[in-house]
Amino acid sequence: MATPRRRLIAGNWKMNGLAKDGLDLVRAIAERARAEAGTDVLVCPPFTLLAAAAAAAQGSPLLIGAQDCHAKPAGAHTGDFSAEMLADVGAHWVIIGHSERRTDHGETDALVRVKAEAARRAGLGAIICIGETLAERESGRTLQVLSAQLAGSLPSGTTGESTVVAYEPVWAIGTGKTPTVAEVAIAHAHIRRTMGSLSSDANGIRLLYGGSVKASNAAELFSVADVDGALVGGASLIAADFSGIIAAAPAV
Ligand code: PEP
Repeated sequence: MATPRRRLIAGNWKMNGLAKDGLDLVRAIAERARAEAGTDVLVCPPFTLLAAAAAAAQGSPLLIGAQDCHAKPAGAHTGDFSAEMLADVGAHWVIIGHSERRTDHGETDALVRVKAEAARRAGLGAIICIGETLAERESGRTLQVLSAQLAGSLPSGTTGESTVVAYEPVWAIGTGKTPTVAEVAIAHAHIRRTMGSLSSDANGIRLLYGGSVKASNAAELFSVADVDGALVGGASLIAADFSGIIAAAPAV
């Protein structure tokens, strides 16, 4: 029998969090992660808090991640951070290709792929985000878009140890709207099938759902086959809300 995939609940703070409240939140989530030993818990604060967050989480099972990295290890790239720098300050994971990066910074699948390769080079896990826009969904192209994004952004040799894929419908992010459970099931089954032709470890790669996940809808989303956890934006900024989502994940 295949080894069950451990659930991963990842919080993406985006451009939110100053030192005091941010570190209080890290400490509260670290406590929760201790209590929920059957689930992996990850917090991705802004770069400014990474080192302090890693220090605050030390000794707990809470994982710390970043929200982006540059593809190169070092060089003349003002304002950027390499994957090696993220690892150096204590990050374990990095989110790559979030739709806000794709929209705000014109990131393409090809760039996402080289950034995922950079993460692997630095020893970081990569959470690769994919997802359709509302126009793509309404024109019936969701599955086609997901296939193309996967084919363009997954590096060769991708395994479940180095990579997590997050399915985040762009229209569900920060809007309070979510696809139906049936729509999530169709998308995740399609992603799992498509990964089969791109990775020899397709069944080992965790597949997160992201987009308006809350404590109130998490259990229903986690009941869907092939949903191995969640990438959470807004609700990850409030300890009680994020804890409720962690508690809804079945332990493995
Ligand atoms: C996200 O930013 O990845 C996200 C899913 O945001 P929210 O949970 O706020 O929709």
